[in-house]
Amino acid sequence: MSAEQFRTEAHKVIDWIADYWATVGERPVLSTVEPGSVAEAVDGPIPDDPEPLEQVLSDVDRLLVPGLTHWQHPRFFAYFPANSSPAAVLGDLLSSGIGAQGMLWATSPSVSELEQVVLDQLARALGLSEAFCHRREDGSPGAGGGVIQDTASTATFTALLAALHRATGGRARTEGVESGRYTVYASSQAHSSLQKAAMMSGLGERAVRTIDVDAWTQQLDVAALAEALKADVAAGRVPVMVQACVGTTGTGAVDPVTEMGALAHRHGAWLHVDAAWAGVAALCPEHAWVNAGVAEHADSYVTNPHKWLLTTFDCSSFWVRDRSALVGALSILPEYLRNPASESGAVVDYRDWHPQLGRRFRAVKLWTVLRSYGLSGLRAHLRAGVAQAARVTGLVDADPRFTPAAPPCLGLVAFRLAADASGARLPDAEADRLTAALMTAVNTSGEAYLSHTQLSGRTVLRWAVGGWQTTAADVERTWQVLSDAADELLGHAAATPG
Ligand SMILES: *Cc1c(COP(=O)(O)O)cnc(C)c1O
Repeated sequence: MSAEQFRTEAHKVIDWIADYWATVGERPVLSTVEPGSVAEAVDGPIPDDPEPLEQVLSDVDRLLVPGLTHWQHPRFFAYFPANSSPAAVLGDLLSSGIGAQGMLWATSPSVSELEQVVLDQLARALGLSEAFCHRREDGSPGAGGGVIQDTASTATFTALLAALHRATGGRARTEGVESGRYTVYASSQAHSSLQKAAMMSGLGERAVRTIDVDAWTQQLDVAALAEALKADVAAGRVPVMVQACVGTTGTGAVDPVTEMGALAHRHGAWLHVDAAWAGVAALCPEHAWVNAGVAEHADSYVTNPHKWLLTTFDCSSFWVRDRSALVGALSILPEYLRNPASESGAVVDYRDWHPQLGRRFRAVKLWTVLRSYGLSGLRAHLRAGVAQAARVTGLVDADPRFTPAAPPCLGLVAFRLAADASGARLPDAEADRLTAALMTAVNTSGEAYLSHTQLSGRTVLRWAVGGWQTTAADVERTWQVLSDAADELLGHAAATPG
């Protein structure tokens, strides 16, 4: 492909994306294809001869689009948002086009240095404190720093490896770990990536202590954490890491970071804060409270620009207060990677900050996003999501059939269908059945997409707002679909008692 051909072909792809975004709201949000049907449609040998891009794009439309669930749809309200955006796509294109490998500073200095600067800027904007910056405001080098990981799951895994490195005085990387000796703590609402991290680190999933939460707020019970720590220490075990959740996946609950940090440090444990979804909200002064306690107490912190901050997957920002623990756990220097810059100690070699060696230039994507929208644009986006979620809360509160299942947080509302039209409470099992049926009705309508969770054994709907194309009208339209489906289900239930 010549440069001129590339220019022409690239425009066709950008046109495809622009058309897709412009019309995605008219498509069914959730794909309903049968398992295996996409594979069957696209299967076949690699072509011997080159095919024109038109043919590829036409097959995308014909064979792949029906099997897509549209995450950029304005009425995608499931899980958490995974914002793309024009600036992120353009930044990602730059990264792909540059095609640099940033494993060492020496393999492309701009890749490492831009990442350090962007993460310092973001740490300050999120109120994490200077302790997490590569370079302090006075220009002197810091002890901490940030890195872009692929996902929060990887960030949490590396936090655990750093914590284990510190707790074992470095023996974890040389000797491995003794079975049953080291323990990890988080609430019952913590993300499953913590359990996975325990499995991958060699601690085993039984090392994870699941701490109770308050039945309404879903926040970790600090007294229960204190007891669990005490019991393990009395039995000769070593607490390695306590994880606080800022914005749990189920309901968006924010754990008491300050109290948890004090407890963790009393027992020599590392405090990791998982703010994968909610953390970015702190860019707005009125939501800065979500990161309270992080500056003073956290040893590490993760939040995902690839969720609610307009940065196409993947981009997970992760910071540590003491980079020597992380680098100590993960550094390795084979002869073929030796170079004077690394040996001088004056540079950051990011291959020591994560499991993999190679890494792409994600920082240019995040930098493009931060500059293209500015703090004012990013705040406007976050605020729109919070305002739309407040409208959802208002609708739930005003309808006698629905009950909030936990306090709403930022862009997330958890609720269930719990009463009939007159407000008479349904038996729990019946309410569970109808809540699940309601979700199925909304999702199969193609109009909107919600997801669910279980709280204290009860089925709960999650309505997660925050799409970049979502408007107030999309919220109203989805509520209408939900309300009509509830009418139908309750009418049906009344007609067939028992
Ligand atoms: C989404 C989420 C994760 C996992 O994020 P990935 O980047 O997909 O690994 C972890 N923790 C919380 C609280 C989340 O919301």
